[in-house]
Amino acid sequence: MRNFLCNRVKSIIPYTPGEQPRDLEYIKLNTNENPYPPSLKVLKAMKDSVDASIQLYPDPESIKLRNRAATYYGVKVENVFTGNGSDEILALAFMAFYQDSKICYPEISYSFYPVYSNLYKVDDEKIKMNDDLTIDVNKMMNKNKGVVITNPNAPTGECLNVDTLEKIISSNSQNVVIVDEAYIDFGGDSAIGLITKYDNLLVVQTLSKSRSLAGLRIGLAFGSENLIAQLTSIKNCFNSYPVDKISQVAAIASFDDELYFQSICQKISNSREKTISELTKLGMKVLPSKANFIFTKHKNITGENLYLKLREMGILVRYFNLPSISEYVRITIGTKEQMDELIKAIGEILK
Ligand SMILES: *Cc1c(COP(=O)(O)O)cnc(C)c1O
Repeated sequence: MRNFLCNRVKSIIPYTPGEQPRDLEYIKLNTNENPYPPSLKVLKAMKDSVDASIQLYPDPESIKLRNRAATYYGVKVENVFTGNGSDEILALAFMAFYQDSKICYPEISYSFYPVYSNLYKVDDEKIKMNDDLTIDVNKMMNKNKGVVITNPNAPTGECLNVDTLEKIISSNSQNVVIVDEAYIDFGGDSAIGLITKYDNLLVVQTLSKSRSLAGLRIGLAFGSENLIAQLTSIKNCFNSYPVDKISQVAAIASFDDELYFQSICQKISNSREKTISELTKLGMKVLPSKANFIFTKHKNITGENLYLKLREMGILVRYFNLPSISEYVRITIGTKEQMDELIKAIGEILK
């Protein structure tokens, strides 16, 4: 077979997303999706938005959505960026700020960063974790290179406080620091408040997890006016219309239904705490988590075996084939009923 890929990308290893089985037989706890549907108000707004105007391109600047998000987060519209999922925003940010230069990120974090680094020829230093898999914060200071940090971290669930993030951001003021807050709504404090103080900070968020809109692909980013303008100029070298019309409407409706949003985030964090205590009773070690997933292991079974046994029993979780975390599985927090099934299954497997 001939290989038409150009030299620059020939050796690239793509990101592997968690499996999306075609049948709905599985209890799906493997891709950190929200177990609850989006707000009915979001679905209604989307349906109402489907009309002949779809013949026109959407607003390339997503002005209404950016205004809504700006009000929601207490920033200016010029501080807000939108993208086709936060993955697209991260890719654009790597392209815009890191291409052919140097960055660092914790060794155990979102597995898309090494892929983007490869794609854009970024020299990426992976900072070793502490023995308990927490981030070695001191090793993230004064790097004199770009820094990417997932907060809460994935797949470990650890959440750094804003003061710690501020130290990392201020000690790397010559370079862009990206804080990827895909899971921030499940109990952490956002760094958005720091964007007025640090013009090198880009905070990236998504509506896929906490707002149950993974199927639409909507991401947001927050930064200084300057940084957002520069990111926008690179976006306009790539795709003028990354966020479609229906998604823009849906995202606004989601910010309008605060009550529903708060109620599902609360349900998930309650369910997380209950799951942690049940699994601990079964002898599992569970890392503290502020996300909608937990990272857990048991001394008598490898992560891979636990993953395979659960799969046989109809439950999908995520296992990472990396030596340093091969004992662990990552389990997304589902509904109360799904968690009861999970705990029952793990109990049987460990017997
Ligand atoms: C899920 C996830 C994303 C991607 O979210 P999308 O908006 O759906 O593209 C980005 N970063 C982290 C850490 C994630 O877990």
